[in-house]
Amino acid sequence: MKHHIDGSPLESDFEIKMETLSLSVEPGSKDVIVKNLYVSIDPYQLNRMKTYSSSQTAVSFSGSLTPGLAIDTYGVGRVLTSGNPNFEKDDLVVGLISWGEYSILKEGVILNKLDPMGFPLSHHVGVLGFSGLTAYGGFFNVCKPKKGEKVFVSAASGSVGNLVGQYAKLFGCYVVGCAGSRKKVDMLKDKLGFDDAFNYREETDLNSALKRYFPDGIDIYFDNVGAEMLEAAVSNMNTFGRVAVCGVISEYTDSGKRAAPHMLDVVYKRITIQGFLAADHMAVYADFITTTTDHLRTGKMQALEDVSIGLESVPSAFAGLFRGDNVGKKIVQVGEE
Ligand code: NDP
Repeated sequence: MKHHIDGSPLESDFEIKMETLSLSVEPGSKDVIVKNLYVSIDPYQLNRMKTYSSSQTAVSFSGSLTPGLAIDTYGVGRVLTSGNPNFEKDDLVVGLISWGEYSILKEGVILNKLDPMGFPLSHHVGVLGFSGLTAYGGFFNVCKPKKGEKVFVSAASGSVGNLVGQYAKLFGCYVVGCAGSRKKVDMLKDKLGFDDAFNYREETDLNSALKRYFPDGIDIYFDNVGAEMLEAAVSNMNTFGRVAVCGVISEYTDSGKRAAPHMLDVVYKRITIQGFLAADHMAVYADFITTTTDHLRTGKMQALEDVSIGLESVPSAFAGLFRGDNVGKKIVQVGEE
């Protein structure tokens, strides 16, 4: 990151820096040197890149970024050298590596050995990684679904959204998603089994669009975008409806934009609106892995991945999230397996 970024990120906001890396670990140091393989590209990083965030909470949660320094990210790699007795050369690992070709992980930084369980390594960045846990924990723990309930998911072709829709369908809900292109809408219906989907960019009035897709109202709204979509969803919620606020991507690029749902709707319809973080749901991690690996093996669920190759594609992969370029989990492969 060359400088702080306010508004939508551009490829030109980033540059690749080269440094010489020593492959030996100082005696007594518990550093682990990792060859990065797959790195996650996530919208929340933009909130760390701002000059001044109007949401200091968001920044304090994940830490603000300093121009010129490496950007830490969730990802998968292979150990090259380790001073830490828990890791050996050639171990596959998953944790907080960086948008780079190599990472030096200090003691205490999140890093775990990875058992790929027969799945491609990239799945451990997406469907079996944090995106999957976010969708699983958010849907089952926060939305508390009942079979037959009507579920609306925004950014439904994205990393988290497509999985929420798939879990909800497998659980027995009626699911409608919205996304930013006709191609994505067709994919949600034809490939992922959503009951219906629409292109929000073609709708002039989101409130009446949701009335059309949910004539009997929405029971659960899984919110990935915030602002007008959240307002329209709240207007269309049923009594005792639940809104899981996973993220508000449309507000990340526009600091003046804020959702203002009709609070009288919230009162009279006794709607629950709850924000959450994936990390809140570690208690269901084992269930999440068992259920999701079963669904993937039996072909009931699909892993939707959008993988670019090479470190040089990180800036466009990241900027593309805010243009809707990605379909499914955006990942960059920065090293050969
Ligand atoms: P995605 O893979 O969904 O990528 C972002 C997508 O959002 C784009 O493809 C685009 O699709 C859509 N989008 C971009 N800008 C806008 C906009 N202005 N209005 C509406 N849609 C937009 O990202 P993730 O699935 O990783 O993340 C989805 C949300 O979940 C984000 O808000 C993220 O911050 C949040 N999140 C929260 C976590 C938590 O722990 N609470 C963990 C992980 C993610 P389209 O073509 O449909 O516009």
